[in-house]
Amino acid sequence: MSATTARPLRVAMLSVHTSPLHQPGTGDAGGMNVYIVQLSRSLARLGAEIDVFTRCRGEGLPPRVQMAPGTTVRHLHAGPCRAVAKEELPGTLEDFSRALLRTAAEDGGRPYDLVHSHYWLSGQVGRTVTRRWGVPLVHTMHTLGRVKNASLAEGDSPEPLERILGEHRIVDTAERLVANTADEAAALRRLYGAARERTDIVHPGVDLGTFHPGEGRRAARRLLGLPQDAFVPLFVGRIQPLKGPDVLVEAVAELVRLDPELGRRLVVPVIGGLSGSGLRAPERLGELCAASGVADVVRFEPAVRQETLAHWYRAADVLVMPSRSESFGLVALEAQACGTPVLAAEVGGLPTAVWDRVTGLLVQGHRPRDYARQLLTLARAPELARAMGQAGVRYASGMAWDPAAARTLAVYERAVETARPGWAGAAARPCPGGNLSLEVPGPRRLK
Ligand code: UDP
Repeated sequence: MSATTARPLRVAMLSVHTSPLHQPGTGDAGGMNVYIVQLSRSLARLGAEIDVFTRCRGEGLPPRVQMAPGTTVRHLHAGPCRAVAKEELPGTLEDFSRALLRTAAEDGGRPYDLVHSHYWLSGQVGRTVTRRWGVPLVHTMHTLGRVKNASLAEGDSPEPLERILGEHRIVDTAERLVANTADEAAALRRLYGAARERTDIVHPGVDLGTFHPGEGRRAARRLLGLPQDAFVPLFVGRIQPLKGPDVLVEAVAELVRLDPELGRRLVVPVIGGLSGSGLRAPERLGELCAASGVADVVRFEPAVRQETLAHWYRAADVLVMPSRSESFGLVALEAQACGTPVLAAEVGGLPTAVWDRVTGLLVQGHRPRDYARQLLTLARAPELARAMGQAGVRYASGMAWDPAAARTLAVYERAVETARPGWAGAAARPCPGGNLSLEVPGPRRLK
């Protein structure tokens, strides 16, 4: 319920390029999809009404799909009704904005109180429709083009200028920006000139109903057919250079060299599908495993549902995240909630998601040898790993989605209260009946 409107807050969530109904862990579907599903559900439990708008991709789904009580996914026709390459998506945004305005007008009912857009593509649509509706725009970036470009791995293409400009326009006009961590808020200020007073930090949550220690490690290993005496470092995530799976493979090879006996009982599941620049060279990781002599140790598994993923976390000795860039890293929280420590690169949101030396270990840089050494420490000190796992359960228990949604709701209410004629978005509002073209950016200062 909104304090300002005394009726349920109606929110249009925008997730243009990927649907909350997609299986996360492969292609374009990842943490953002999970975030939108969980946030929307929790917001609805708090009394808000949520419509999540996404692009129709010809998956045979009806225009409206109820995802949870109070939360509906709505498919809009924008561009061809099929999956399109990410580079083509900016060309569909104008259609998406039109379709959204038309659909909302046809609905007839009560207008949306605000728009919460996710990722820069949705932010462009958010800017257009909020000006039309005269409501505030709240935006979450999820990842930042400038941050990504600063940590490119070999084979990665830089994010295009169009994205960087788009992100600047969102920062300049959104009523409020929601950052996942203090690190992201700092990057928004430093790299995009975001105003501190319009930026809120809300940590994402973890679904504690799915991710919990459950039946424990032995039972999970039995269920998954993993040997009880195996040492199991687990990788979960979309397979792309940004996530550093190559670092893990080389660390595993180093671990075998450091301790051949341990090497004989190593099992390294890599769970997830190809994504991003990983799609351009699908064979690369398998080739690296073969060249490093660990092809029989590393076991590739396709993306799985979260209920199954929880068994993998429980079965593992440690979750390894050698990411080169990570805005938050939901999988780190999920593993901890299941009682598994995390070995992660000290980048982006990971120092927030992982409590260094309490619930896991953080490593500076991406030298495989450093990861191998830490894996060896955990393998040789199982009681330390166990204590970290137990601390992780306690840490994650403080990160449920409902409190995260309550904090997001407070951001929404602040946005609604403060949005008044004269705010940046309203100033740029087109004349009634004006055309809907997305403006071409003028020259601007890029820091
Ligand atoms: N995930 C999943 N099945 C898989 C692999 C991953 O459901 O096989 C989910 C996982 O539970 C997590 C999300 O995908 O919630 C990945 O989020 P994260 O923030 O770790 O990474 P991102 O995809 O945002 O880069």
